[in-house]
Amino acid sequence: MRPLSSWGHLSADPHEVIRLQDPATVAGQLSAHHPGIAHGMGRSYGDVCLNAGGIVWQTTGLDHYIQFDQDSGRLICEAGVLLRDIQRMSIPRGWILPVTPGTQLITVGGAIANDVHGKNHHVQGSFGDHVERIRLLRTDGQIIDCGPQQQAQWFAATVGGLGLTGVMVEAELQLCRVPGPWLENETIAYDSLEQFFQLADDSEAGWQHTVSWIDCLNGAGRGLFMRGNPVDGGARTEPKGKKRSMPLVPPCSLVNRWSLPPFNQSYYHLKKWRTGRVISHYESFFYPLDNLLHWNRMYGPRGFYQYQSVVPRAVGQDAVHAMLNEITRADQGSFLAVLKTFGARQPLGMLSFPQPGVTLALDFPNRGAATLQLFERLDAIVRQAGGRLYPAKDARMPRDLFEAGYPRLGEFLALRDPGISSEQSRRLMGY
Ligand SMILES: Cc1cc2nc3c(=O)[nH]c(=O)nc-3n(C[C@H](O)[C@H](O)[C@H](O)COP(=O)(O)OP(=O)(O)OC[C@H]3O[C@@H](n4cnc5c(N)ncnc54)[C@H](O)[C@@H]3O)c2cc1C
Repeated sequence: MRPLSSWGHLSADPHEVIRLQDPATVAGQLSAHHPGIAHGMGRSYGDVCLNAGGIVWQTTGLDHYIQFDQDSGRLICEAGVLLRDIQRMSIPRGWILPVTPGTQLITVGGAIANDVHGKNHHVQGSFGDHVERIRLLRTDGQIIDCGPQQQAQWFAATVGGLGLTGVMVEAELQLCRVPGPWLENETIAYDSLEQFFQLADDSEAGWQHTVSWIDCLNGAGRGLFMRGNPVDGGARTEPKGKKRSMPLVPPCSLVNRWSLPPFNQSYYHLKKWRTGRVISHYESFFYPLDNLLHWNRMYGPRGFYQYQSVVPRAVGQDAVHAMLNEITRADQGSFLAVLKTFGARQPLGMLSFPQPGVTLALDFPNRGAATLQLFERLDAIVRQAGGRLYPAKDARMPRDLFEAGYPRLGEFLALRDPGISSEQSRRLMGY
């Protein structure tokens, strides 16, 4: 048994860690050691990848490429391969993963199980939209090969299925063409939510990637809107900057009511005067946080929560406004606050999070009851707006909000593997 945490560091309970390494022996390991839950890089913020006191199947040893067709961009790999390693292999060959989240230090299995989204949902949808086939092993020894055209029910349950339908050992992905590792990008300051929505509408046709940082302590909704497109950057030299690391966990959170207001204020004003177009390397544009390893330590020993919701576009402005007001009133929130629109695509998986609308994601230092009470008030706004919360980021959502937000839950439950259970599944689904 050893202590295991997810990215939010809200707990470090002992787990029995079973390392999966060879796809040929995984079936035997699963049938001998269950119930459990797959654990990739543990980059989920809450309890979706945890099973306190029980088994986790560690998948990062399943890290082999099986086949890459350079003409078609079709990649077959094991499910523990990191997105970072795929990108570093494929981009010099002219291919890129169509969808990646704000960190590339995650596994293919984790990306599928949470059906992750990136800055280009309005163009490419979510990660699952580019998966052609998954090999799924069940704890009873069954092997299921599924895809959008093959055993489609299993595919729709597994994409965004929170690891609960089986353990993925292999996946086939369709990459997309890219001119190189560079993006032309632009930052525009906005002073209100009205301006944010106008910028999002104006940018969706001409820009593949859009995202914004929002100052969560400014009730009006000011922020910085970033948009980017891949470009042929010519013969530029790729940055070779050394990664920095947060060396230790400070005794208390460095993000607090004293540090945050001046930080947000100066970040906004500094960037506001440095807007305009630049060419950036894809790693700094897509994954700026990966440059500071262990940045989650800055929240101190009590860890932190992320609260990510999506609400329909028609009520989006009012709902986001109401959430920002609650956060300002509660004197909470953090520097990491992202506001972004999702495109019109309907969710692919039965429990996929992205749906048409606007998503707000915010980190909160864990201040115990005060933080949880704020979340209850935010839940009420999301519920009222007909929205949902993202299980990948969640460690506390109430069961009724989960059930209301995911209307295909009943269909999904019929396809769960009875030998798989996580802390989150017990909290939200009863086992
Ligand atoms: C800095 C940062 C930025 C992020 N930005 C975004 C973002 O922009 N968009 C977004 O969507 N997400 C984002 N995330 C969340 C992250 O992308 C997801 O939580 C992702 O699923 C983590 O993958 P992982 O390999 O760490 O899996 P884990 O967190 O270990 O597990 C996640 C889920 O996948 C399941 N799983 C893992 N491997 C397998 C397998 N082989 N078979 C079956 N199930 C499996 C687990 O059981 C669990 O349910 C971000 C996270 C961080 C830390």
